[in-house]
Amino acid sequence: MLTIRLLPSSFASDGSASKMQHFSCYVVNGSVAFDAGSLASGVNEHEREAIRDVVLTHAHLDHIAGLPLFIDDLFPVLTEPVRVHATKEVIDVLETHIFNWQVYPRFSELQNEFGPVIQYYQFPNDDQFEIRGLRITAMPVNHKVPSNGFLIQTDSAKVVFTGDTAESAELWNAINKSGPIDALLIECAFPNEFEDLASISHHLTPRKLGSELKKITADIGAIYVTNLKPAYRDVILDQLKSIVDDRLRVLDVGREYRFG
Ligand SMILES: [Zn+2]
Repeated sequence: MLTIRLLPSSFASDGSASKMQHFSCYVVNGSVAFDAGSLASGVNEHEREAIRDVVLTHAHLDHIAGLPLFIDDLFPVLTEPVRVHATKEVIDVLETHIFNWQVYPRFSELQNEFGPVIQYYQFPNDDQFEIRGLRITAMPVNHKVPSNGFLIQTDSAKVVFTGDTAESAELWNAINKSGPIDALLIECAFPNEFEDLASISHHLTPRKLGSELKKITADIGAIYVTNLKPAYRDVILDQLKSIVDDRLRVLDVGREYRFG
């Protein structure tokens, strides 16, 4: 089995979790975080206790913002380090621009009474690695900065998570070779009117998403759209209706999905 929960980013006016996705952080099997945008603020108590592995797609702020605060919150009680799995490029950005003693402490130079509080694990693109029973394959995607999507597998489930991406041939070739997939989580950040901005920033629109889905020949159980920019959410939802594909739905914030 494999579970995925997109953590909430903000609150609705009645105090409940908002449907808006300002950040990216997906908790898999309750214990491994993919991206860390809302990691500190969006986790429940069980997740805060269980998560010690964080896998990063890339270093844009909406994907890493919660990482420094998560480690800070846990600093005195960590009996093992938070393990950050990322490419060399992403680790370099974190150490240079975030954990630099100016934006936030360089946790890699600090210890609590139990030892280190952060440890980096570098993976090259296209590499496979295993974390807590999850077999993970990093797949380069087409974004403004070096970025990966991930194929995540357990014995009974297989899910692909694109992270931020624009059009890609390489990603779909890899997926098409990987056999049947239970679910694809794919981004769609901007509405069709912002196609130029989507191209410059390397994101998808509903029109581009429709074209990308035609490149997939692998058998996919469900397609969940994520990363809708909050300012355009209603417009994007409306434009997604033009994609005729009954596997397509929008991933609900806060809900736990089970596969396999
Ligand atoms: Zn990005």
